[in-house]
Amino acid sequence: MSEERLQFQAEVSRLLEIVAKSLYSEKEVFLRELISNASDACDKLRYAALTAPDLIADSDGEGASDGGGAFRITLTVDAPSRTLTIADNGIGMNRDDLLENLGTIARSGTAAFLDTLGAESKDDVAMIGQFGVGFYSAFMVADQVAVLTRKAGDGQGWRWTSDGKGEFTIAEAGGVARGTRVVLHMADGQDEFLDPQRIRQIVKTHSDHIAIPVVLAGAAEAGAKDNGEAAAQEETLNRASALWTRPRNEVTDDEYKEFYHHVAHAFDEPWLRLHYRAEGVIEYTALLFVPSQAPFDLFHPDRQHHVKLYVRRVFVSERADGLLPPYLRFLRGIVDSEDLPLNVSREMLQNNPLVAKIRQGLTKRVLTELGKRADNDAAGYTAFWSQFGALLKEGAYEDFENREALLSLMRFRSTHDDGESWISLSDYAGRIKEGQEAIYTITGDDLDTVKSSPQLEGFRARGIEVLLLTDPVDEFWIPAIAQYQDKPFKSVTRGGADLAKIKTEDAAEPEAEESAAPAAETEALIAALKTALGDHVKDVRSSERLTDSPVCLVADEGDMDMHLERLLMKHNRIDSAAKRILEVNPKHPLIVRLAADAGGDDLSDTAFLLLDQARIVEGEAVPDPAAFSRRLSAALARSLEG
Ligand code: ADP
Ligand code: MG
Repeated sequence: MSEERLQFQAEVSRLLEIVAKSLYSEKEVFLRELISNASDACDKLRYAALTAPDLIADSDGEGASDGGGAFRITLTVDAPSRTLTIADNGIGMNRDDLLENLGTIARSGTAAFLDTLGAESKDDVAMIGQFGVGFYSAFMVADQVAVLTRKAGDGQGWRWTSDGKGEFTIAEAGGVARGTRVVLHMADGQDEFLDPQRIRQIVKTHSDHIAIPVVLAGAAEAGAKDNGEAAAQEETLNRASALWTRPRNEVTDDEYKEFYHHVAHAFDEPWLRLHYRAEGVIEYTALLFVPSQAPFDLFHPDRQHHVKLYVRRVFVSERADGLLPPYLRFLRGIVDSEDLPLNVSREMLQNNPLVAKIRQGLTKRVLTELGKRADNDAAGYTAFWSQFGALLKEGAYEDFENREALLSLMRFRSTHDDGESWISLSDYAGRIKEGQEAIYTITGDDLDTVKSSPQLEGFRARGIEVLLLTDPVDEFWIPAIAQYQDKPFKSVTRGGADLAKIKTEDAAEPEAEESAAPAAETEALIAALKTALGDHVKDVRSSERLTDSPVCLVADEGDMDMHLERLLMKHNRIDSAAKRILEVNPKHPLIVRLAADAGGDDLSDTAFLLLDQARIVEGEAVPDPAAFSRRLSAALARSLEG
């Protein structure tokens, strides 16, 4: 039995460095993490044993005591040898499990995420918790960790050791009980964790909600095991019942919070909690949380939700497909069904009609609860919205049944107050002007960019509100929904603006008529620009939507929105953009001058300069930068001569 010496994956090493700097304000949470893992391991075995009862019968080896499914977590303090041991009789790990679970971090995007972490801020710690720093937190207090483990049903046990400094060892081990024993050798200065009184207190604070007994074995004196004294001194430290089965008024906020940390592998405060029991045709208990901090992989393409499924207190699945719609994947927690068969395979869950009913019920409850929050705590709600709103927009796209509820939960930035606050669609509807036939929108990459779009000028000047949209999903849900309260959504960067029809109470039409070029001259200029630009544009026309800028680009009515087109091109979904329409502002001094001269000089250079200028404002590339530069230099030289 030779010992292998292996390197941690680079990400783990980085993580361990951060852990070693003891970023956690409370080191004691290492125990919560190890107990949480032990509890998960027992849950997994209980489920596996439903179809393979022999797995639980397998309990030979030192320290095993269940004799048929009595799961428990045993803590043993050995002060003379400076060790604290956390033992469980759960599923255990084989060699591959050890390599994968205690050598790497499997979650995608971890490396990129670690790179974004700054120095030593509290937020980083909370974020790190999200991808299972759990086990590695042992190295906050221990200078040496040994894991003795044997997987249920396997003959071979294993011993894993590490000092948390880049390497670990794995070797075969004999006489190992089913399950896992984590032996921590406490570092200098961590003596408090060798004190049974302190251990009692930590378990009570952080792990009371664990559903199986957490037992403190008597402090090991030499020979205690042989004469049975240790067993006699055993003491259960926690309440050992599933937290969600308790009445709401008997669970404290702190208990809920600790449960959330356990179930979500999270470190933040939950922003919202929903604990209820559905009774009637289908019965289930749900205990759900909305985090206050967005998980870093929220936009991972797999869109998996993260709510665990239990059936009559037995853990069944980490994430049963179909239990929640993908757009509610920000939720954490558990659902415990009374009706589902226990031996249902995970594959069968997906199309199970009972699961679909539970999903409907959960979705309605969650949306109702969010609605209440929106009404009663506007500030809290907008904080939620700014983190998770984009997901609810996915819901508007794909959950037809709850579309109305989702629309009323939506919040937007708008030109109403230059994007300062969040408004609802009904706020917008209340400000619609007489003759206004549409809800106007503009989409872009970020608020500053959309706010400075020239296409907004005419709307601003007339006091017509435009929603400022910056989530990529906006390009999809809006076309899918098409309208709100009989008013279609309309992009201000596409098609005609139709502004003249809308009555604005400030009688002052934004621009005085005399400043515009005479209509005939404008028409001649437009015709000349069209000729000069040829098929570089779809059309050139006079603009209603500009007040300050001389030109802008818009998409033709039937064409794709320009921002969407840019998004798709960026992701190589399409090769080229449709031709744009160049709009010119007949009231802009430059256009007025050009109109007066039209028919004189060759307009070609000017026409392309105007087009390139409009492209630049739009954030689009100038197709021929050299030509642009030559034309600009020539124009500057001419203006100096003139
Ligand atoms: P997380 O619990 O978030 O998955 P951890 O770092 O706490 O992350 O644990 C990593 C993995 O190691 C677990 O997912 C599990 O597969 C395995 N593991 C840890 N402790 C145990 C244990 N006591 N029994 C079985 N497997 C364990
Ligand atoms: Mg864990």
